[in-house]
Amino acid sequence: MTLDEIIALDKKYYMNTFGDRLPVAFESGKGIKLFSTDGKEYYDFLGGIAVNALGHSHPKHIANLKRQLEKVLHTSNLYYIENQARLAEKLCEHSCADKAFFASTGAEANEGAIKLAKIYFYKQGKDKFEVISLNKSFHGRTLATVAATGQKKYQMPYRPLIPGFKQVEPNNIEEMKAAITDKTAAIMIEPIQGESGVYPMDKEYIAELRKICDEKEIILIFDEVQTGMGRTGEYFAHQYYGTEPDIFTCAKALGGGIPIGGIGAKDFVAAAFAPGDHGTTFGGNPFAAAAGLSVFEIFEEENILDNVKQISMYFMDKLEDVKNKHNGSIVDLRNAGLLIGIELKENIARDIFMKLFNEGFLTSLCGNTIRLAPPLIITKQDVDEFIKALEKVL
Ligand SMILES: *Cc1c(COP(=O)(O)O)cnc(C)c1O
Repeated sequence: MTLDEIIALDKKYYMNTFGDRLPVAFESGKGIKLFSTDGKEYYDFLGGIAVNALGHSHPKHIANLKRQLEKVLHTSNLYYIENQARLAEKLCEHSCADKAFFASTGAEANEGAIKLAKIYFYKQGKDKFEVISLNKSFHGRTLATVAATGQKKYQMPYRPLIPGFKQVEPNNIEEMKAAITDKTAAIMIEPIQGESGVYPMDKEYIAELRKICDEKEIILIFDEVQTGMGRTGEYFAHQYYGTEPDIFTCAKALGGGIPIGGIGAKDFVAAAFAPGDHGTTFGGNPFAAAAGLSVFEIFEEENILDNVKQISMYFMDKLEDVKNKHNGSIVDLRNAGLLIGIELKENIARDIFMKLFNEGFLTSLCGNTIRLAPPLIITKQDVDEFIKALEKVL
């Protein structure tokens, strides 16, 4: 099909939730590159929104997936699943978690995390159910995660929202303290806010939240759907910050392109889920779990975390140079590893974003910030190509 035919078909049959998308459809990919149906080559500096950590068509990942495809795809959680148990082990070994659970998406993992925090207090007969999250956060599109998402545009159409959720300003410990009541069950944050434009929390803020949660018996939840699996240069952002939550979630990069979400939790809180309290049909099925195992295997074999640390430093140095050279065009640079925000002057942001796209560079625009979440396998040469394109369009 030509691009025009694809667009016409989409407009006729697909619900219009994504509006006018960028005018491109991709046929194949290799490494950091994607190839469009009309024969153009793109550098994927968004990585499918932080999903394609291994890039596209990683040979080992594809081989691992094929091997599992030919064995069995799905059996159900009525039976034991070797891949699921092994992936749970991997997730716990590489994080602060004692126990894991698998869902299919980020929002669903977050739903499970919120349920776990609530049931933990319910089982003790305590009337604690409120969840405090942050303004400008993003936790997903289900009803509970929309209630946790601190952005009015996502909440307004779905009111009345699930009760018990409120939001406060990020990095403001006094506001957080003021919002806590004896009904507060959980504080839920993204250690680095992704969707709203890459806003890292202060290290002291995160440490202080941990202290407050310990003092007031509140469950600390990190939504690591975007920051998990190597994005920051550590497996998880809680390692990057050196502060352990009681529960964290992950999803985007966990399957390297295959949908899977995960919850990691400390034993004391994980134990609140008894048989029947939570469940899923698809979560952690043999194929999805094989994808997760494959990602962990390749991370270790290819020293992906070292690459993230090295390349992100190189990338930020280069971006600083561009910022200094193009006086005033770049307002701010923010990052944690290879989650990078380039905040531009308000009147040029959309234009620069579109020009990058036309130059063959995929990024995303969050307000005035260009967000990059490239595959974690990128090289210095890839960075150089991006920098060249950015200088050109600036
Ligand atoms: C993407 C994202 C989600 C939602 O994940 P889905 O798989 O789209 O449900 C939740 N939290 C954060 C921090 C995200 O970046």
